[in-house]
Amino acid sequence: KKGILIIGAGGVSRVATVKCAMNIDTFEKITLASRTVSKCEDIAKDIKQRVGVDIDTASIDADNVPELIKLIEKVNPKIVLNVALPYQDLTIMDACTKAGVDYVDTANYEHPDEAKFEYKEQWGRDEQFKKADVMALLGSGFDPGVTGVFCAYAQQNLFDEIHYIDIMDCNAGDHGYAFATNFNPEINLREVSANGRYWEDGKWIETKPLEIRVDHDYPEVGIKPSYLLYHEELESLSKNIKGLKRIRFFMTFGDSYIAHMNCLKNVGMLGIEPVMHKGVEITPIEFLTTLLPDPASLGPRTVGKTNIGCIIEGLKDGVKKRVYIYNICDHQECYKETGAQAVSYTTGVPAMIGTKMLYKGIWKSKGVFNIEEFEAKPFMDELMTQGLPWKILELPVD
Ligand code: NDP
Repeated sequence: KKGILIIGAGGVSRVATVKCAMNIDTFEKITLASRTVSKCEDIAKDIKQRVGVDIDTASIDADNVPELIKLIEKVNPKIVLNVALPYQDLTIMDACTKAGVDYVDTANYEHPDEAKFEYKEQWGRDEQFKKADVMALLGSGFDPGVTGVFCAYAQQNLFDEIHYIDIMDCNAGDHGYAFATNFNPEINLREVSANGRYWEDGKWIETKPLEIRVDHDYPEVGIKPSYLLYHEELESLSKNIKGLKRIRFFMTFGDSYIAHMNCLKNVGMLGIEPVMHKGVEITPIEFLTTLLPDPASLGPRTVGKTNIGCIIEGLKDGVKKRVYIYNICDHQECYKETGAQAVSYTTGVPAMIGTKMLYKGIWKSKGVFNIEEFEAKPFMDELMTQGLPWKILELPVD
């Protein structure tokens, strides 16, 4: 077995594939496959120009397990990196166990007909991966992904006990449209329009969509309205960070985004059930996705920064301690380097790094794992040199 097979050719894939090509000494050989092969070919051409590396391309329907197995056996890679959509997680995982290769993804499985965002189905494949003698690394994007690595790093190096975690995700980028989403619109709108949820004292507490707002001061970005959302890493971190009392997730949204989303929701455009329209069955959110700008097209027009990080509080040597670990990314710099904006960049770079951890055997195991279950330091070192440098601020404790 040699090289990697990357599945999906959207914004995140563009960044992950460019970054893998920049690390060709590690990955040896890259094959990029997706439903629309012309998108793979565009990325391949761009990589040849930018990095001078040749990659192979292929066409694949990743909903089809036998087809996937055939492709994996033909390419014969060491690892499959899944940067298609969360709907394809289970089929690609099943194909990986049948073909005996490791698996990496950036988002948890989502059933096309239910907005659930939970790890149950993927964690349920642990035995299957153990039996096949391979491993799955789940959620190697930014959030989930780097946020889990930040928490693991804090647990392994900065604290004796962690009690509180707030994940703060700010995108202060401006793309100039009245309304657009920075990654796949369907997944983004499902996530934001769902009820909020956080974990406290062993229980989940549910909120109405966008019910809890805080105005948070993001270092080097400024004060931004931030809303409590449910986000999938809360499920794994609440299990894997021992002694935790509360974990929450906040994301920034501008007033225009929220006004548009509420309006679309009120008229039924976010619906995930099919409706009949002039004798044709359509799913409202899929039709909306067709109308909205393709996230991949936002790259050249987005300016500003992202700041994503974790505020972590706990005890060190019996004394209360609070730190803020974060990364800042500039949309235009990301675009110059990879042809994609910062939301794709902050996901694609960690997707490459997670894959590198497995490829080099730095993280090695059998079964299904979340990212915070491994030693964080080698991943943190890679972030520093691969385009996502981080900082740690000591915050006052009240
Ligand atoms: P895009 O919609 O831009 O790209 C998705 C790609 O997957 C497209 O190329 C699409 O092909 C391909 N695809 C979809 N269905 C299939 C299929 N059945 N078979 C083969 N290929 C398929 O999405 P993004 O790049 O924005 O996001 C990619 C992933 O990253 C998603 O899972 C998303 O949830 C995740 N993500 C994670 C984040 C994190 O921080 N952890 C943040 C942002 C995103 P086609 O072009 O033909 O439609």
